Amino acid sequence: MSEILLADHDLSRANTLGLPCRAEHFAAPAAIEPLRRLLRLASEQAWPLTLLGGGSNLILPAHLPGLVLQPALRHWWLESRGDSVLVHVGAGVEWHPLVMALAGRGLWGTENLALIPGHCGAAPIQNIGAYGVELGEVIEAVHVLFIEDGSSAVLTPEACAFGYRDSIFKRELEGRVVITGLSLRLSREAAPRLAYGDLARRVGANPSPLEVAQAVCAIRREKLPDPVELGNAGSFFKNPIVSRDQALELLEDCPDMPHFDVGDGQIKLAAGWLIERCGLKGWREGHFGVHSRQALVLVHFGGGDAGELLLFADHVAESVQARFGVTLEREPRLAIESP
Ligand SMILES: Cc1cc2nc3c(=O)[nH]c(=O)nc-3n(C[C@H](O)[C@H](O)[C@H](O)COP(=O)(O)OP(=O)(O)OC[C@H]3O[C@@H](n4cnc5c(N)ncnc54)[C@H](O)[C@@H]3O)c2cc1C
Repeated sequence: MSEILLADHDLSRANTLGLPCRAEHFAAPAAIEPLRRLLRLASEQAWPLTLLGGGSNLILPAHLPGLVLQPALRHWWLESRGDSVLVHVGAGVEWHPLVMALAGRGLWGTENLALIPGHCGAAPIQNIGAYGVELGEVIEAVHVLFIEDGSSAVLTPEACAFGYRDSIFKRELEGRVVITGLSLRLSREAAPRLAYGDLARRVGANPSPLEVAQAVCAIRREKLPDPVELGNAGSFFKNPIVSRDQALELLEDCPDMPHFDVGDGQIKLAAGWLIERCGLKGWREGHFGVHSRQALVLVHFGGGDAGELLLFADHVAESVQARFGVTLEREPRLAIESP
């Protein structure tokens, strides 16, 4: 079943930006062996390969040549280890329902990452983060298959080289592995992380992980557009990191500019604030716009395509460069273009 190969498969509902896209071939293998066989087939046919999770961090072109693989390994189980619990989860499990299920069992560690869309297999790639927590903090191991020869490996958190929206999967291992599963280390001991935003005000004293996760969901729903209603990929740009000197210069002009010291003489700025200060919040051109409540989110009103979105995004980034001299880097990844 899981090796069924679909031709000319429509992916326009498989990406949260709602961009029109057809895959030349598509398969959703639900086990490791079918996945290996499909990798071999792609190699024999010299098909370009695209990996797809929930499509919430991808910009898809109108036509994707070769094979699109969406790992559908959907198992998860818990292993008790003293005060910790290891959670073993397949790449095809949806992240947010997993977080709610774990929080509901009283396990601490992922509750601040509630309501992030996508599948578990993609979560380590940009080291998903929100409300002061990053996935890398709870990763025990990442399970991968090498595309070249189908061999498997288990990577430690150190080997994953997690950073801000960054990991080895965006660097040395980019395009070389399929992530097949994760092991997360969660805790039964209360460990609320409430310092970020107004999270502390939203929960009572001694909250449960489920209460924290629910508060995170409530805040996110107020701020972020739901991709089901309005196409988007969450934050379209990373928060830029600049030198302390550059930040001080900018602060002379704009003393109210949000800034966070990230050590090593580096300061993180808020990309959404910079975009808003360029007067672009709520700006619309053609089929795309800057969201009216959160300037970091670019939205698709329908009818547009990847090319138009990239031009729109360039305009936003160029405006920030011209006004502040700060370079914005795109967060969603570009799938391969058709030849
Ligand atoms: C409304 C909204 C809010 C968001 N909020 C946040 C947030 O708070 N914090 C945050 O960090 N991100 C956020 N995101 C971004 C996104 O949800 C995450 O990056 C998520 O992990 C992407 O998962 P996905 O399954 O949708 O990946 P996809 O978009 O399908 O793929 C992303 C990348 O991973 C590759 N990939 C997918 N699966 C695999 C695999 N099994 N093996 C190897 N490579 C693979 C793809 O080829 C692609 O390059 C948000 C997005 C949206 C739409």
